[in-house]
Amino acid sequence: MFDKILIANRGEIALRVIRACREMGIKSVAVHSTADADAMHVRMADESVCIGPPPSPESYLSIPAIISACEITGAQAIHPGYGFLSENAGFVQIVEDHELTFIGPTAEHIRTMGDKITAKETMKQLGVPVVPGSDGGVPDVEAAKAIGREFGYPVIVKATAGGGGRGMKLATSEEEMETAFRTARSEAKAAFGNDEVYIEKYLGKPRHIEIQVFGDGKGNAVHLGERDCSLQRRHQKVFEEAPGPAIDAETRAKIGKICADAVARINYIGAGTIEFLYEDGEFYFIEMNTRLQVEHPVTEAIFGVDLVREQIRVAAGLPMSFSQEELEVHGHSIEIRINAEKLPNFSPSPGKVTQYHAPGGLGVRMDSALYAGYSIPPYYDSLIGKLVVYGRDRPEALARLDRALGELIVDGINTTVPLFNALLAEPDILTGDYNIHWLERWLETNLG
Ligand code: ADP
Repeated sequence: MFDKILIANRGEIALRVIRACREMGIKSVAVHSTADADAMHVRMADESVCIGPPPSPESYLSIPAIISACEITGAQAIHPGYGFLSENAGFVQIVEDHELTFIGPTAEHIRTMGDKITAKETMKQLGVPVVPGSDGGVPDVEAAKAIGREFGYPVIVKATAGGGGRGMKLATSEEEMETAFRTARSEAKAAFGNDEVYIEKYLGKPRHIEIQVFGDGKGNAVHLGERDCSLQRRHQKVFEEAPGPAIDAETRAKIGKICADAVARINYIGAGTIEFLYEDGEFYFIEMNTRLQVEHPVTEAIFGVDLVREQIRVAAGLPMSFSQEELEVHGHSIEIRINAEKLPNFSPSPGKVTQYHAPGGLGVRMDSALYAGYSIPPYYDSLIGKLVVYGRDRPEALARLDRALGELIVDGINTTVPLFNALLAEPDILTGDYNIHWLERWLETNLG
């Protein structure tokens, strides 16, 4: 086992990893930009290294600075958290070249899943159901129109290098295809430096269901059920739950086994998420994330496991500490993402937090790096906390979420808490009757 792990991240996810390290008796090293000298992850880690100025490319994304920090502190492994360098295959290669361990999958797996056309083709070959559409990249408008005729409109043009919902364009008819195709291409070129696009049948009212998988890199893998993350604003998840209100035990076991078998066959190591759109009882693969997800705590809650501890164990060459048979769903968990943003426009609201009180009590977990007196810097993601609740069933979890939100105090800045107070009064949320378009429509009607 490692003696010391460096965490190449900040905020709540850095704390999450530090906590796992401490419970495992491993020393932790925080890295930070000059803007984060007073940040909680710096205070909580055993050691810290300043790696550069505020802009991420010069600090949290600076590979030489991070590798140097390992050398200075003697850290043997790097946990990347999510975002930043977590899905950067080049970084993984450099980490390995320096005889350090990357706590995550191999560079090759990250590369394969990072290119969506390759990812889709790989998954299809591994027996995972995919969205019907073009076979790989589509070279020109004529080919795009032919695909549209073959699969029927509406279709969606997507960038193979895509992420964060960019480079994606809907075409509802052949007339719209020309513009959709050209716009998707130029957006993809501008955002990712790669203009290759592919085309998929557009699903009208799917849910976003993702399967948590975990592999030991030696051909063994398990699944830890699904999360329903359909409540999204601009393709960003805001509310996630497990188990999914629309998924029963039989469906879970079936799609879970398909996913676990697929990642076992490629000797996948560590945590991964296979994302699907789910409509009329069918699953359609959209992408695989080769890292820990923001919403991993809801899975931890219902299975009673520590996914970060498990990531560290398999990275150190140890076996997984659970088998598929031991993984049973208990109860229900919901996470809400609280952002430092001002409603109704969700404009960033950084600044000084004058008062902070975290909710507590039975079944409540608040993952946050806030403290009273902390100044949220304007340079990074606006996520300031994840409130995660657990209950014996969905109604209990919802009641607990409502209760916990009532206890939370964050003064001095604007947050998205009022959004969740409003959502908890919505019958569709209470019954779990929503799809990926529900929140955008609700926002238009209620905040538009
Ligand atoms: P990104 O990596 O940019 O987030 P994804 O492929 O994961 O792209 O898709 C993001 C979101 O776009 C999905 O959660 C869904 O809301 C929508 N989407 C993607 N593909 C389709 C499709 N074929 N039909 C309908 N909606 C889609």
